[in-house]
Amino acid sequence: MSRLDTHWFTEIHEGAGSAFSLRIRKKLVEEQTPYQRIEVFETTDFGNFMVIDGCTMVSARENFIYHEMMTHPVLYTHAAPKNVIVIGGGDCGTLREVLRHSEVASAVQVEIDERVTRLAEQYFPELCELNEDPRATLIFGDGIQWIKDAAPQSLDVVIIDSTDPIGPAEGLFSRSFYEDCRCALRPGGMIVQQSESPLLHLHILRDMHTSMRSAGYNDVKTLQFPQMIYPSGWWSATIARKGEEIAGLREADVAAKPFETKYYNADIHRAAFALPTFLQQALAQ
Ligand code: SAM
Repeated sequence: MSRLDTHWFTEIHEGAGSAFSLRIRKKLVEEQTPYQRIEVFETTDFGNFMVIDGCTMVSARENFIYHEMMTHPVLYTHAAPKNVIVIGGGDCGTLREVLRHSEVASAVQVEIDERVTRLAEQYFPELCELNEDPRATLIFGDGIQWIKDAAPQSLDVVIIDSTDPIGPAEGLFSRSFYEDCRCALRPGGMIVQQSESPLLHLHILRDMHTSMRSAGYNDVKTLQFPQMIYPSGWWSATIARKGEEIAGLREADVAAKPFETKYYNADIHRAAFALPTFLQQALAQ
């Protein structure tokens, strides 16, 4: 639920008895697509800001934390990520970070709502700056169906950068979807999914761990990072592996990475997987 005052956008988190606001200068666009309502605002301090169905999605100022943490931990853990798919992620920020890795030979983004990407191109051009990379393919369609149809053992990494588990994204949080992803992954392949707030959505995290394990994944682990514009300001991603092989962080490659990151580094990588006691207990097998 959201409320637009004269100078503030507010997302109310009814169930948590809390709310988050950004001061806005003006509304740049509002569109109802077949899938969702998209709004873009110009804020006074956070740059442009996208909202989908009243929920905060991306701000120009702080999206780097989310996009770096959705990509570099998994890509620097997989031994040799060549073929990567991003499900959702229509703002293209996750795709951009994937394409920074020179060992990635192909990166496909499957976003259900083309308007999210077209508006990102217009209002967040910095996130879309690698969309013309010859290794990138933008597909507009349902990620659930795309994964079902994907050739078995054709992918190394699946990144699920989705909206909350409602509407078209609901099926992206299901055991059958994880099974289809597992089928599309090569042995040693990895999956990472945004997994909501550890504080407010513990049940989603717990269900995700259970579903990924029962879909046959190993090493199901959650990493955490701050994300001011999302409910509670504290967010997570959950990572899992197909197969027994245990590879760790490719430290030397992180140290020698040929691109800049603003948030991610080897210390952050290790620290992100350290969990507070209540999460350790909730996510224990
Ligand atoms: N970072 C954001 C967050 O955690 O709140 C998510 C951003 S991204 C804009 C999420 C995208 O997932 C949306 O653009 C939405 O259209 C897309 N999406 C939702 N369900 C989908 C599906 N089944 N297949 C492909 N894309 C989907």
